[in-house]
Amino acid sequence: MLRKVADGVLVHESEFMQSNAVVVQGQDGVLLIDAGVSGDEMADIANDLRESGQPVVAGFSTHPHWDHLLWHAGFGEGPRYGTARCAAAIQARLSDPDWKAGVAGMIPPDAGEVPLDDVFGRIIGLLADTERIPWDGPGVRIIEHQAHAPGHAALLIEERGMLVAGDMLSDVLIPMLNFLAPDPIEDYLTALRLLERVAGDVDVVVPGHGSVGGADQVQARIDLDRAYVHALRDGQDPSDPRVGPSAKPGWEWVSNVHTGQLQRLGQRNE
Ligand SMILES: [Zn+2]
Repeated sequence: MLRKVADGVLVHESEFMQSNAVVVQGQDGVLLIDAGVSGDEMADIANDLRESGQPVVAGFSTHPHWDHLLWHAGFGEGPRYGTARCAAAIQARLSDPDWKAGVAGMIPPDAGEVPLDDVFGRIIGLLADTERIPWDGPGVRIIEHQAHAPGHAALLIEERGMLVAGDMLSDVLIPMLNFLAPDPIEDYLTALRLLERVAGDVDVVVPGHGSVGGADQVQARIDLDRAYVHALRDGQDPSDPRVGPSAKPGWEWVSNVHTGQLQRLGQRNE
């Protein structure tokens, strides 16, 4: 079910990891950001859009992780964009003849039936420094950074006061660092600074996973994420509500992610 979160912006929340697909209404159809996870739910979104007479005219993937690269035939064949680095990362993966087995190995059983078909990850890379997604609709500004994944994009829809944060600013997931990068801590802090610059213009924040937040949540989530990254860097207890006994029911596994990140950082610093 699509739920309105701002004028002309709808969100579909998936059962799997509270994943959010975002629909932005434009002149002749909609922009679909991070289209969904299971084949069933994407078919539902496609049906809802068809019934309301709103074709998908473009897509966007916030970053090159499997749960943000899916697509469904019902969405049509409009261009699907990502940053140049995002597209390069997924193209490198798809160039491996065994990519399906590799990606399937990352998908938890509770994700439902996830279609790893020929439309998976077919992303067109936008030239570096492209300011806005090319489409006929409200301006969608690309805020590219290197936290969490290469070429990760947060999207600012200025006219709607809305920030689509990708896999950052979640109320349930801690910052998950990209350990393949040379300096994942600094990448994350830099990204938070970029988001902080626009925080004052944001009334609604939609994370890739978790609850949609109001204006008061934007700076609060930036502060929480930064405190977590600082604690991780300094090897301290993050005392973060998303980790440990205070985690929301069903999200206790995030504590294991935290422990894993502490270990990986420790190994790097040895
Ligand atoms: Zn994700």
